[in-house]
Amino acid sequence: MYITLKNINKIYPNGFHAVHHFNLEIEKGEFVVFVGPSGCGKSTTLRMIAGLESISSGEFLINGERANEKSPREREVAMVFQSYALYPQMTVFDNIAFGLTLQGVDEDIIEERVKKTAQILGLTDYLDRLPRALSGGQRQRVAIGRALIRKVGIFLMDEPLSNLDAKQRVTMRGEIAQIHRETGATTIYVTHDQTEAMTLADRIVVMKDGYIQQVGTPYELYFRPSNVFVAGFIGEPPMNFVRGTIQNSGILFGDQRVDLTGVRPDLAAQEGRSVVFGFRPEAVTLAEQKDASRIDCRVELTEMLGDNTNVYITSGEQQSILKVDSHDTPETDAPLTFFIPWESMYFFDGETEEVL
Ligand code: ATP
Repeated sequence: MYITLKNINKIYPNGFHAVHHFNLEIEKGEFVVFVGPSGCGKSTTLRMIAGLESISSGEFLINGERANEKSPREREVAMVFQSYALYPQMTVFDNIAFGLTLQGVDEDIIEERVKKTAQILGLTDYLDRLPRALSGGQRQRVAIGRALIRKVGIFLMDEPLSNLDAKQRVTMRGEIAQIHRETGATTIYVTHDQTEAMTLADRIVVMKDGYIQQVGTPYELYFRPSNVFVAGFIGEPPMNFVRGTIQNSGILFGDQRVDLTGVRPDLAAQEGRSVVFGFRPEAVTLAEQKDASRIDCRVELTEMLGDNTNVYITSGEQQSILKVDSHDTPETDAPLTFFIPWESMYFFDGETEEVL
């Protein structure tokens, strides 16, 4: 295994326990994304890997060798931050070359490597410019170039797209994926944006309150979330949740009843058990189908987004969102019937919120 984090903890000098028992193994060439809400400990973990923050306990290995005490340089990591941290008075060429210049690398070699890096990043025509004459996306590419040129083993990125506008972010996301394909560099990327995580990652680590919630491929996290938090965090709009207790082999969905006998006979038999029932907005259908539960509700609001429409519904007190084809946009303030396929139903324990 290329990178191993064994039972890593971070306790800051003020006593705050920011990262708890973090365990993860990363293979060479993998693109791993740490995702979670603000304050969940993802940057702290990345900074411990970078060597910018000490590791309070646990073991950190690179290529099987203990690296806890190694300096950032010895770890052979390069980091890209959310603020690009470019030198404003230096040209793009000099900014990219900076690390190598500092190391006293031969000028011919520097020139060759800057040109190669600029080519990968589409910056060839901008090498003579100063950072202020570049767009946000171009500046971010320079910052990535500066990290890439060092040819290190591990590439770390902390919210590298957060200073870009929505459109630039999508473009840059594609470019980062492309750069990873071309360089094959092992990458650890931190973001709070689940779309970035889903589109870039080979594997995603979902964190909350300093604890790993789940590690898996984007597919696994979407289709097999291990708890309510992950189920609600991955997917947009988020999964709908209905809290309740199992009564007469079913669960109440507002003023409707979902029978569990066909869906989950094991749960149907557990009278009185408290559960959280979940279904994704995009998993419902408006046409009747086999092996699906029927729900009658009322449409409160619709949002046409182009190919899809978000439909805000209520059933009794229960509010939910459905995502339907925009050609099927229902009328507002009117009754609606929809179907949830059994295979798209999720059940979690009412107390632990772990998947059942
Ligand atoms: P964000 O997306 O907001 O950067 P994050 O998930 O990256 O969040 P961290 O920056 O890792 O979160 O911080 C995790 C927790 O540790 C937070 O509650 C933060 O307040 C706390 N923290 C960070 N740095 C320190 C510090 N130097 N001393 C004490 N607590 C800290």
